[in-house]
Amino acid sequence: MMHRAIIAFHTDEELHWVAELACGHNQHVRHNPPWVNRPWVLTVAGRDQFIGHLLACKCDRGEPRDNPY
Ligand SMILES: [Zn+2]
Repeated sequence: MMHRAIIAFHTDEELHWVAELACGHNQHVRHNPPWVNRPWVLTVAGRDQFIGHLLACKCDRGEPRDNPY
């Protein structure tokens, strides 16, 4: 499993938070208690703290980039 740094965040059409990774893939970082607790994703300050944080990515599955840049 490859680990990639978070470079930015955006919300999807359902307003769930999505992390944009350095490799060009996106990954949901939902806050959905009590199953998934990521209260930091709900605030600008919290998200800023996770810029550069490494997430396991689907890179090793050879999927195309989600972001063109
Ligand atoms: Zn990736």
